Amino acid sequence: MTRSVRIDDLPVRDELRGKSPYGAPQLDVPVRLNTNENPYPLPEALVERIAERVREAARELNRYPDRDAVELRTELARYLTRTAGYEVTMEGVWAANGSNEVIQQLLQTFGGPGRTAIGFEPSYSMHGLISRGTGTGWISGPRHEDFTIDVDAAVRAVAEHRPDVVFITSPNNPTGTAVGADTVLALYEAAQAAKPSLVVVDEAYGEFSHHPSLLPLIEGRPHMVLSRTMSKAFGAAGLRLGYLAADPAVVDAVQLVRLPYHLSSVTQATALAALEHTDTLLGYVEQLKTERDRLVTELRAIGFEVTDSDANFVQFGRFDGAAGSHEAWQRILDQGVLVRDNGVPGWLRVTAGTPEENDAFLDAVRELKKEQS
Ligand code: PMP
Repeated sequence: MTRSVRIDDLPVRDELRGKSPYGAPQLDVPVRLNTNENPYPLPEALVERIAERVREAARELNRYPDRDAVELRTELARYLTRTAGYEVTMEGVWAANGSNEVIQQLLQTFGGPGRTAIGFEPSYSMHGLISRGTGTGWISGPRHEDFTIDVDAAVRAVAEHRPDVVFITSPNNPTGTAVGADTVLALYEAAQAAKPSLVVVDEAYGEFSHHPSLLPLIEGRPHMVLSRTMSKAFGAAGLRLGYLAADPAVVDAVQLVRLPYHLSSVTQATALAALEHTDTLLGYVEQLKTERDRLVTELRAIGFEVTDSDANFVQFGRFDGAAGSHEAWQRILDQGVLVRDNGVPGWLRVTAGTPEENDAFLDAVRELKKEQS
Protein backbone atom coordinates (compact mmCIF):
# COMPACT_ATOMS: atom_id res chain seq x y z
CA MET A 1 0.00 0.00 0.00
CA THR A 2 1.41 3.39 -0.87
CA ARG A 3 1.38 6.25 1.62
CA SER A 4 -1.66 8.48 1.10
CA VAL A 5 -1.52 10.76 4.16
CA ARG A 6 1.07 12.17 6.58
CA ILE A 7 1.27 11.34 10.31
CA ASP A 8 -0.44 14.57 11.24
CA ASP A 9 -3.38 13.70 8.99
CA LEU A 10 -4.02 10.68 11.24
CA PRO A 11 -6.02 11.02 14.46
CA VAL A 12 -2.87 10.72 16.63
CA ARG A 13 -2.86 12.11 20.19
CA ASP A 14 -2.36 15.89 20.34
CA GLU A 15 0.87 15.68 22.37
CA LEU A 16 2.52 13.56 19.65
CA ARG A 17 1.77 15.97 16.80
CA GLY A 18 4.82 17.47 15.13
CA LYS A 19 7.23 15.41 17.27
CA SER A 20 10.15 13.30 15.93
CA PRO A 21 10.94 9.76 17.04
CA TYR A 22 14.01 9.19 19.25
CA GLY A 23 17.02 7.89 17.41
CA ALA A 24 20.66 8.54 16.67
CA PRO A 25 21.65 8.40 12.99
CA GLN A 26 22.71 4.85 12.05
CA LEU A 27 25.29 5.78 9.41
CA ASP A 28 27.61 3.34 7.69
CA VAL A 29 31.01 4.82 8.63
CA PRO A 30 34.28 3.12 9.66
CA VAL A 31 34.24 4.29 13.31
CA ARG A 32 30.90 4.54 15.14
CA LEU A 33 31.22 6.13 18.56
CA ASN A 34 27.76 7.66 18.86
CA THR A 35 25.42 5.39 20.83
CA ASN A 36 27.40 4.42 23.94
CA GLU A 37 27.55 0.81 22.82
CA ASN A 38 30.28 -1.50 24.04
CA PRO A 39 32.75 -1.94 21.13
CA TYR A 40 33.71 -5.50 22.10
CA PRO A 41 31.69 -8.31 20.53
CA LEU A 42 30.72 -11.03 23.00
CA PRO A 43 33.50 -13.60 23.51
CA GLU A 44 33.16 -16.77 21.44
CA ALA A 45 32.65 -19.00 24.52
CA LEU A 46 29.66 -16.88 25.48
CA VAL A 47 28.27 -16.95 21.94
CA GLU A 48 28.41 -20.78 22.17
CA ARG A 49 26.72 -20.77 25.58
CA ILE A 50 23.95 -18.50 24.26
CA ALA A 51 23.40 -20.88 21.35
CA GLU A 52 23.13 -23.79 23.80
CA ARG A 53 20.73 -22.01 26.14
CA VAL A 54 18.61 -20.72 23.26
CA ARG A 55 18.49 -24.22 21.72
CA GLU A 56 17.05 -25.51 25.01
CA ALA A 57 14.56 -22.65 25.11
CA ALA A 58 13.57 -23.32 21.49
CA ARG A 59 12.38 -26.79 22.41
CA GLU A 60 9.68 -25.15 24.52
CA LEU A 61 8.80 -22.20 22.32
CA ASN A 62 5.28 -23.63 21.91
CA ARG A 63 4.79 -22.54 25.54
CA TYR A 64 4.71 -19.01 26.92
CA PRO A 65 7.86 -17.98 28.82
CA ASP A 66 8.15 -17.84 32.61
CA ARG A 67 5.98 -14.77 33.13
CA ASP A 68 7.83 -13.84 36.31
CA ALA A 69 11.35 -14.56 34.93
CA VAL A 70 12.28 -16.03 38.32
CA GLU A 71 15.59 -17.66 37.33
CA LEU A 72 16.77 -14.52 35.55
CA ARG A 73 15.73 -12.20 38.39
CA THR A 74 17.52 -14.49 40.85
CA GLU A 75 20.75 -14.26 38.84
CA LEU A 76 20.41 -10.48 38.41
CA ALA A 77 19.93 -10.16 42.18
CA ARG A 78 23.06 -12.25 42.71
CA TYR A 79 25.00 -10.04 40.27
CA LEU A 80 23.93 -6.83 42.06
CA THR A 81 24.66 -8.29 45.48
CA ARG A 82 28.13 -9.28 44.33
CA THR A 83 29.06 -6.08 42.51
CA ALA A 84 26.97 -3.20 43.86
CA GLY A 85 27.60 -3.44 47.59
CA TYR A 86 24.13 -4.31 48.84
CA GLU A 87 22.22 -7.56 49.20
CA VAL A 88 19.09 -7.79 47.06
CA THR A 89 16.86 -10.77 46.46
CA MET A 90 14.78 -11.90 43.48
CA GLU A 91 11.64 -10.37 45.04
CA GLY A 92 13.26 -6.91 44.85
CA VAL A 93 14.41 -7.22 41.24
CA TRP A 94 12.34 -6.84 38.07
CA ALA A 95 13.44 -7.22 34.43
CA ALA A 96 12.08 -5.97 31.11
CA ASN A 97 13.06 -5.38 27.48
CA GLY A 98 15.76 -2.77 28.06
CA SER A 99 15.76 -0.23 30.86
CA ASN A 100 13.60 1.88 28.57
CA GLU A 101 10.80 -0.62 29.17
CA VAL A 102 11.55 -0.62 32.90
CA ILE A 103 11.18 3.18 32.85
CA GLN A 104 7.99 2.93 30.81
CA GLN A 105 6.49 0.45 33.27
CA LEU A 106 7.45 2.72 36.20
CA LEU A 107 5.80 5.71 34.51
CA GLN A 108 2.70 3.67 33.64
CA THR A 109 2.47 2.69 37.30
CA PHE A 110 3.50 5.88 39.11
CA GLY A 111 2.98 8.59 36.44
CA GLY A 112 0.21 8.90 33.85
CA PRO A 113 -2.45 11.49 33.02
CA GLY A 114 -2.75 14.21 35.65
CA ARG A 115 0.68 13.35 37.06
CA THR A 116 4.15 14.75 36.41
CA ALA A 117 7.80 13.66 36.29
CA ILE A 118 10.94 15.79 36.65
CA GLY A 119 14.50 15.30 35.38
CA PHE A 120 17.55 17.56 35.56
CA GLU A 121 18.60 18.49 32.05
CA PRO A 122 20.55 17.98 29.92
CA SER A 123 19.95 14.34 30.71
CA TYR A 124 18.69 11.17 29.06
CA SER A 125 16.01 12.49 26.71
CA MET A 126 13.94 9.29 26.86
CA HIS A 127 12.87 10.12 30.42
CA GLY A 128 10.93 13.05 28.98
CA LEU A 129 9.82 11.16 25.87
CA ILE A 130 8.51 8.12 27.78
CA SER A 131 6.78 10.51 30.16
CA ARG A 132 5.02 12.08 27.20
CA GLY A 133 4.20 8.65 25.75
CA THR A 134 2.53 7.62 29.02
CA GLY A 135 0.59 10.89 29.34
CA THR A 136 2.80 12.09 32.22
CA GLY A 137 3.59 15.81 32.29
CA TRP A 138 7.33 16.56 31.98
CA ILE A 139 9.19 19.14 34.04
CA SER A 140 12.73 20.12 33.06
CA GLY A 141 14.79 20.76 36.20
CA PRO A 142 18.06 22.75 36.43
CA ARG A 143 21.78 21.91 36.47
CA HIS A 144 24.87 23.99 37.16
CA GLU A 145 27.01 25.31 34.25
CA ASP A 146 29.45 22.44 34.91
CA PHE A 147 26.56 19.95 34.49
CA THR A 148 26.45 18.83 38.13
CA ILE A 149 22.97 18.96 39.69
CA ASP A 150 22.29 22.30 41.37
CA VAL A 151 20.99 20.73 44.58
CA ASP A 152 19.37 23.84 46.04
CA ALA A 153 17.62 24.72 42.79
CA ALA A 154 16.62 21.07 42.25
CA VAL A 155 15.16 20.77 45.76
CA ARG A 156 13.26 24.03 45.20
CA ALA A 157 11.91 22.71 41.85
CA VAL A 158 10.72 19.50 43.53
CA ALA A 159 9.04 21.46 46.35
CA GLU A 160 7.39 23.80 43.83
CA HIS A 161 6.17 21.28 41.24
CA ARG A 162 5.52 18.32 43.58
CA PRO A 163 6.25 15.77 40.81
CA ASP A 164 5.08 12.15 41.11
CA VAL A 165 8.33 10.77 39.67
CA VAL A 166 11.87 12.17 40.03
CA PHE A 167 14.61 10.97 37.66
CA ILE A 168 18.25 11.12 38.74
CA THR A 169 20.69 9.76 36.15
CA SER A 170 24.07 8.72 37.51
CA PRO A 171 26.37 8.71 35.67
CA ASN A 172 24.38 11.18 33.60
CA ASN A 173 23.92 10.87 29.86
CA PRO A 174 25.09 12.84 27.84
CA THR A 175 27.43 14.63 30.25
CA GLY A 176 29.05 11.63 32.05
CA THR A 177 28.54 13.31 35.43
CA ALA A 178 28.19 11.10 38.52
CA VAL A 179 25.73 12.17 41.23
CA GLY A 180 26.79 11.95 44.88
CA ALA A 181 24.78 10.03 47.47
CA ASP A 182 24.21 13.30 49.38
CA THR A 183 22.47 14.84 46.35
CA VAL A 184 20.28 11.77 45.85
CA LEU A 185 19.31 11.82 49.53
CA ALA A 186 18.52 15.54 49.48
CA LEU A 187 16.25 15.02 46.47
CA TYR A 188 14.63 11.96 48.04
CA GLU A 189 13.84 13.93 51.20
CA ALA A 190 12.45 16.83 49.16
CA ALA A 191 10.36 14.48 47.02
CA GLN A 192 8.91 12.70 50.04
CA ALA A 193 8.11 15.99 51.79
CA ALA A 194 6.39 17.33 48.68
CA LYS A 195 4.19 14.41 47.68
CA PRO A 196 5.51 11.61 48.38
CA SER A 197 6.86 10.55 44.99
CA LEU A 198 8.95 7.82 43.37
CA VAL A 199 12.66 8.56 42.90
CA VAL A 200 14.22 6.65 40.01
CA VAL A 201 18.01 6.47 39.98
CA ASP A 202 18.98 5.53 36.41
CA GLU A 203 22.33 3.79 36.68
CA ALA A 204 22.57 2.54 33.09
CA TYR A 205 26.31 3.36 33.14
CA GLY A 206 26.87 2.44 36.80
CA GLU A 207 29.56 -0.18 36.12
CA PHE A 208 31.80 2.43 34.43
CA SER A 209 31.84 4.83 37.37
CA HIS A 210 34.82 5.73 39.55
CA HIS A 211 32.33 5.73 42.44
CA PRO A 212 30.43 2.85 44.07
CA SER A 213 26.85 2.11 43.04
CA LEU A 214 24.02 4.09 44.64
CA LEU A 215 22.13 0.81 45.17
CA PRO A 216 22.62 0.69 48.99
CA LEU A 217 20.51 3.88 49.22
CA ILE A 218 17.32 1.85 48.56
CA GLU A 219 17.67 0.43 52.10
CA GLY A 220 14.76 1.80 54.17
CA ARG A 221 13.59 3.95 51.23
CA PRO A 222 10.61 2.16 49.65
CA HIS A 223 10.06 5.00 47.18
CA MET A 224 13.52 4.72 45.64
CA VAL A 225 14.21 2.57 42.56
CA LEU A 226 17.56 1.82 40.93
CA SER A 227 17.48 0.95 37.24
CA ARG A 228 20.24 -0.84 35.33
CA THR A 229 20.81 -2.37 31.90
CA MET A 230 22.77 -5.14 30.20
CA SER A 231 23.11 -2.89 27.10
CA LYS A 232 26.35 -1.21 28.18
CA ALA A 233 28.56 -3.07 30.68
CA PHE A 234 27.45 -6.51 29.45
CA GLY A 235 28.01 -5.50 25.83
CA ALA A 236 24.53 -6.73 25.00
CA ALA A 237 22.63 -3.76 23.55
CA GLY A 238 21.02 -6.09 21.01
CA LEU A 239 19.63 -8.31 23.75
CA ARG A 240 17.28 -5.67 25.17
CA LEU A 241 17.47 -6.44 28.86
CA GLY A 242 17.05 -3.87 31.60
CA TYR A 243 16.23 -4.36 35.27
CA LEU A 244 15.45 -2.56 38.49
CA ALA A 245 16.09 -3.09 42.16
CA ALA A 246 13.72 -1.71 44.78
CA ASP A 247 11.46 -2.64 47.64
CA PRO A 248 9.55 -5.80 46.58
CA ALA A 249 6.32 -3.74 46.78
CA VAL A 250 7.54 -1.71 43.76
CA VAL A 251 8.06 -4.97 41.87
CA ASP A 252 4.50 -6.01 42.78
CA ALA A 253 3.24 -2.62 41.58
CA VAL A 254 4.81 -2.81 38.10
CA GLN A 255 3.13 -6.21 37.61
CA LEU A 256 -0.10 -4.22 37.31
CA VAL A 257 1.01 -2.73 33.98
CA ARG A 258 3.48 -5.22 32.48
CA LEU A 259 2.21 -7.05 29.42
CA PRO A 260 1.67 -10.76 29.96
CA TYR A 261 4.83 -12.72 29.07
CA HIS A 262 6.65 -9.51 28.13
CA LEU A 263 10.12 -11.09 28.36
CA SER A 264 10.57 -13.82 25.74
CA SER A 265 12.12 -17.17 26.64
CA VAL A 266 14.88 -16.44 24.09
CA THR A 267 15.68 -13.16 25.89
CA GLN A 268 15.67 -14.85 29.29
CA ALA A 269 17.93 -17.67 28.05
CA THR A 270 20.39 -15.23 26.43
CA ALA A 271 20.57 -12.98 29.47
CA LEU A 272 21.19 -15.98 31.74
CA ALA A 273 24.04 -17.10 29.49
CA ALA A 274 25.58 -13.60 29.59
CA LEU A 275 25.35 -13.53 33.38
CA GLU A 276 27.37 -16.77 33.51
CA HIS A 277 30.20 -14.80 31.83
CA THR A 278 30.02 -11.75 34.09
CA ASP A 279 33.71 -11.76 35.04
CA THR A 280 34.96 -11.75 31.43
CA LEU A 281 32.53 -8.99 30.50
CA LEU A 282 33.50 -6.87 33.51
CA GLY A 283 37.11 -7.28 32.33
CA TYR A 284 36.11 -5.40 29.14
CA VAL A 285 34.52 -2.73 31.34
CA GLU A 286 37.90 -2.19 33.03
CA GLN A 287 39.58 -1.75 29.62
CA LEU A 288 36.88 0.72 28.58
CA LYS A 289 37.30 2.71 31.79
CA THR A 290 41.02 3.03 31.04
CA GLU A 291 40.24 4.15 27.47
CA ARG A 292 37.59 6.60 28.75
CA ASP A 293 40.17 8.15 31.09
CA ARG A 294 42.67 8.31 28.22
CA LEU A 295 40.11 10.15 26.05
CA VAL A 296 39.55 12.71 28.82
CA THR A 297 43.29 13.30 29.25
CA GLU A 298 44.11 13.48 25.54
CA LEU A 299 41.15 15.70 24.65
CA ARG A 300 42.24 18.13 27.36
CA ALA A 301 45.83 18.01 26.08
CA ILE A 302 44.58 18.85 22.57
CA GLY A 303 42.86 21.89 24.04
CA PHE A 304 39.21 20.87 24.42
CA GLU A 305 37.07 21.45 27.46
CA VAL A 306 35.99 18.08 28.82
CA THR A 307 33.33 17.26 31.40
CA ASP A 308 34.57 14.77 34.05
CA SER A 309 33.21 11.37 33.03
CA ASP A 310 32.10 8.35 35.02
CA ALA A 311 30.47 6.68 32.02
CA ASN A 312 31.66 4.92 28.86
CA PHE A 313 31.56 8.21 26.95
CA VAL A 314 33.00 11.69 27.19
CA GLN A 315 31.41 15.10 26.59
CA PHE A 316 33.77 17.60 24.99
CA GLY A 317 33.64 21.15 23.59
CA ARG A 318 33.33 23.96 23.57
CA PHE A 319 32.15 24.87 20.16
CA ASP A 320 30.39 28.01 19.16
CA GLY A 321 26.81 27.25 20.24
CA ALA A 322 24.53 24.73 18.55
CA ALA A 323 25.76 25.67 15.07
CA GLY A 324 29.40 25.24 16.14
CA SER A 325 28.86 21.79 17.65
CA HIS A 326 26.91 20.67 14.60
CA GLU A 327 29.65 21.86 12.28
CA ALA A 328 32.32 20.12 14.37
CA TRP A 329 30.20 16.92 14.32
CA GLN A 330 30.15 17.09 10.51
CA ARG A 331 33.93 17.74 10.24
CA ILE A 332 34.62 14.70 12.47
CA LEU A 333 32.19 12.62 10.39
CA ASP A 334 33.95 13.73 7.19
CA GLN A 335 37.00 11.93 8.62
CA GLY A 336 35.04 8.70 9.05
CA VAL A 337 34.21 9.02 12.76
CA LEU A 338 30.62 9.26 13.97
CA VAL A 339 30.11 10.96 17.35
CA ARG A 340 26.89 12.28 18.88
CA ASP A 341 25.41 15.73 18.73
CA ASN A 342 22.92 15.53 21.59
CA GLY A 343 21.63 19.02 21.09
CA VAL A 344 23.60 20.42 24.05
CA PRO A 345 24.78 23.68 22.46
CA GLY A 346 28.58 23.83 22.24
CA TRP A 347 29.19 20.21 23.20
CA LEU A 348 29.54 16.80 21.54
CA ARG A 349 29.69 13.31 23.03
CA VAL A 350 32.05 10.48 22.06
CA THR A 351 31.66 6.88 23.20
CA ALA A 352 34.83 5.08 24.36
CA GLY A 353 35.61 2.50 21.69
CA THR A 354 38.53 0.13 21.15
CA PRO A 355 42.01 1.72 21.45
CA GLU A 356 42.20 1.82 17.61
CA GLU A 357 38.80 3.51 17.28
CA ASN A 358 39.74 6.03 19.95
CA ASP A 359 43.01 6.76 18.14
CA ALA A 360 41.06 7.40 14.92
CA PHE A 361 38.75 9.75 16.82
CA LEU A 362 41.66 11.60 18.46
CA ASP A 363 43.35 12.03 15.06
CA ALA A 364 40.11 13.46 13.68
CA VAL A 365 39.69 15.99 16.49
CA ARG A 366 43.37 16.99 16.29
CA GLU A 367 42.71 17.84 12.62
CA LEU A 368 39.57 19.73 13.62
CA LYS A 369 41.49 21.74 16.21
CA LYS A 370 44.13 22.63 13.58
CA GLU A 371 41.44 23.79 11.14
CA GLN A 372 39.75 25.86 13.82
CA SER A 373 42.84 27.61 15.18
N1 PMP B 1 19.18 5.11 30.66
C1 PMP B 1 20.17 5.83 30.13
C2 PMP B 1 20.77 6.93 30.95
C3 PMP B 1 20.63 5.56 28.84
O1 PMP B 1 21.61 6.31 28.30
C4 PMP B 1 20.04 4.50 28.10
C5 PMP B 1 20.50 4.12 26.70
N2 PMP B 1 21.08 5.02 25.94
C6 PMP B 1 19.01 3.80 28.69
C7 PMP B 1 18.61 4.11 29.98
C8 PMP B 1 18.27 2.73 27.98
O2 PMP B 1 19.00 1.64 27.69
P1 PMP B 1 18.38 0.23 27.33
O3 PMP B 1 16.92 0.41 27.01
O4 PMP B 1 19.18 -0.24 26.19
O5 PMP B 1 18.55 -0.59 28.58
